[in-house]
Amino acid sequence: MQQYFSEQPLVPGEAYTMTPAQTHHAGNVVHLQGKIIRLVHDGEAYFARCEGNGKHMTAMVLEKDPVQRELPCEVVLLQALIRREKFEWILQKAAELGVSRIIPFESSRCVVHSRQEKADRQKERWTQILTEAAEQSKRERIPEITNVVSFAEACAVAMDRKYLAYENAYGESRLLGDVYEGGDAAFIIGPEGGFSDEEVQALQDAGFEPVTLGARILRAETAAIAALAVMADKAERNRR
Ligand code: SAM
Repeated sequence: MQQYFSEQPLVPGEAYTMTPAQTHHAGNVVHLQGKIIRLVHDGEAYFARCEGNGKHMTAMVLEKDPVQRELPCEVVLLQALIRREKFEWILQKAAELGVSRIIPFESSRCVVHSRQEKADRQKERWTQILTEAAEQSKRERIPEITNVVSFAEACAVAMDRKYLAYENAYGESRLLGDVYEGGDAAFIIGPEGGFSDEEVQALQDAGFEPVTLGARILRAETAAIAALAVMADKAERNRR
C-alpha cells in the first residue's frame, strides 16, 4: 500500500489535497486512482481513497490505521561524513530500521568535508531520502537529520546512554547486543579511516562506552546498519 506524509492535519470524511510531487507520483507513476493508500500526519496514520487524474489528486480520509511501526524509544545515529553514495545509503537503510535522528559530523580522518554554501541543498536532499524511506517502510515519523556538526558537538550530544562502535574494541569490550537492552540511546560511527586515538579518548571522556560489533573490521556503512539492526531488534523486544 502506498504511503504519503501530509503536512496538514487529516480528518476522516474530508479530502486531502496531494502536493504536486504526490499528485505526479500517485496519478502518473503508480496510478492510484480508486486505490486505498495510507496517509500520515504527526505520527497518526489513516487509510484514504485516492481520486482524481494526473493533474489534480485528492484522497478521501477514511478510518485511522491502528498499527504503529515506530520503535518504542529514541535511537540516535551519530555518523561521520563519508562518501556521498555510502552516506545516502546509510540514510535510507537507517530510516527503514527505525532510526529517530541522524547527526552527521566531521572528524579528523574524514575525507569528505561539509561545504557551507551547499548545506541547504544537501539537507533538502537528505530529508527527501529519509522521507521516501519512511514512506516505503510505512513509518509514522520521518527521521530528523541535523546540520553537519563538529566532532566536539558530536561528543557533547545529550543522551543517557551513548555507545562508541570501535573496531579495536574486540576482545576488550562487550558486544553492542550484550550491553544495549533497549531504551533511548545514541551510537557513533567513524569515517572510512576510523577515529584517531585522541578522538577515542575524547569520546570515552564524554561518556561513550566502547562496544564491538564482532571481530571483523566493517566498512563504516556496514557498521552503522549492523549496529542499528542490533538496537532495533532489542528495542522491539521491549515492546512485546
Ligand atoms: N580504521 C579502521 C581500519 O582501517 O582498520 C577502519 C574503520 S571502519 C572502516 C569505520 C567505522 O566503522 C569505525 O570508526 C567504527 O565506528 C565502525 N566499525 C567497523 N568495524 C567495527 C567493529 N567490528 N566493531 C565496532 N565498530 C566497527
